[in-house]
Amino acid sequence: MTFTEKAQRTAVSAALRPLLGYAAKDTDKHLPKMANRVTKMFGRVFPAKAMTAFRNGANDPENTWNRFAATVLRETDPEFLRKLLLSLGLGIYNGTKLVRANREKYKCNIPFQILFDPTSACNLRCKGCWAAEYDKHERLSFEEMDSIVTQASDLGTRVFMITGGEPLICKKELMQIAEKHNNCTFLIYTNATLIDEALVLKTKELGNVVFAISLEGFENENDARRGAGAFKRSMEAIALLQKHRILFGLSICYTSANLETVTSDAFLDYVIEQGARFIFYFHYMPVGANAVTDLLPSAHQRERMYRWLRKVRAGKGGKPIFVMDFQNDGEYVGGCIAGGRNYFHINSAGDMEPCVFVHYSDSNIREHTIIEALKRPLFQAYYKGQPFNDNHLRPCPLLENPNALREVIGATGAVSTDPCAPESVESLCSKCDRYAEHWKPVAQRIWETSPHPTPKTQYYRDERKEA
Ligand code: SF4
Ligand code: SF4
Repeated sequence: MTFTEKAQRTAVSAALRPLLGYAAKDTDKHLPKMANRVTKMFGRVFPAKAMTAFRNGANDPENTWNRFAATVLRETDPEFLRKLLLSLGLGIYNGTKLVRANREKYKCNIPFQILFDPTSACNLRCKGCWAAEYDKHERLSFEEMDSIVTQASDLGTRVFMITGGEPLICKKELMQIAEKHNNCTFLIYTNATLIDEALVLKTKELGNVVFAISLEGFENENDARRGAGAFKRSMEAIALLQKHRILFGLSICYTSANLETVTSDAFLDYVIEQGARFIFYFHYMPVGANAVTDLLPSAHQRERMYRWLRKVRAGKGGKPIFVMDFQNDGEYVGGCIAGGRNYFHINSAGDMEPCVFVHYSDSNIREHTIIEALKRPLFQAYYKGQPFNDNHLRPCPLLENPNALREVIGATGAVSTDPCAPESVESLCSKCDRYAEHWKPVAQRIWETSPHPTPKTQYYRDERKEA
């Protein structure tokens, strides 16, 4: 952390401490004041329309987002929240400036966040998951993870998502990394079965670690895939987080089979009651030699998901939880965020991949620095190719534009890094052709008849065409 960042952290921390204390006691009175301060700090980072909606919501106690903020302020430990706002707020504020400058300096994508896997091992044996089928476990060392965070942080990346396998198999090392890099935020995707009281207390002390707990639905749906008792163990961890007032959320992969359940009022009300403050929804992807295509949602189910998300997030009549879908919310971030545009993935063998669902690589952290990888052919193909579709309801070079991924992998010679067995790009993309064809007209109709946000984003595809 630079001297300026340290001074800034001290000043913001001193301002936040009393504010969060008051706000927890009298949220209606203090929310508008907090909204004004946030607008002053981040007004130039986010679109003006979004900031106006944010301020209006803060002044209306019936507004969904007002209810959400009031719940977070009342139910979260104020010291944990203060540390989280410091790492996340200042991280995004300082990181964004650095990211944008470095994109121009290096002429490549520079991500806001990186996802890495400390291990490919998992303590569960879920049906169909490669981690359950894969015997030869790979692992990143502490030094390798520390190097990833240090290199990336210098480029402006201040958010790190961690997955696996089950990342909490390496919980000691992960907590050490989070403690060392307290200007960064770490979002850990976990099945939660290894969360115990000692880990919750450490998380509370650090304030820059957040858990996204993976569930498949209620107990029956969850345990049918994850094994008997898995739901109960996840809920015990959730109870511990709630007891210590630690903010957490959920991560849900939706499929043709569980979509109805995981978007039902009953499910949402239940998880809100258990203390979840966000849900990140992931569209099922048929990745891996044994992945089936019948779990892909139909075009009808996907449209239902698109409309449901917007209903849940509506200022009037929504639910006090932040829901986001990485496939149906592409319009808020200008399409595909992979290949380092906003994020990329490093697997437990050190391979740098464009996306957690795209298991191809031409660089490894044991041979290349992060900036070298971002300048190599695979990530450059993303840099020059994004957005892969001007309709951001069809953002993906794999799922909705499989020919784009065929072209990228064919042109760059990136090799399969699939942990179980190599999968050719043709075999992978052919599983998405039918889906892409069916979704195209529906996406076109929605795109032509719905309003869209205009996110502040940087594209290089158009610059290349003009050159
Ligand atoms: S918990 Fe996650 S990583 Fe582990 S086997 Fe199940 S789906 Fe795979
Ligand atoms: S490659 Fe597909 S799944 Fe990955 S970030 Fe891009 S759009 Fe999303």
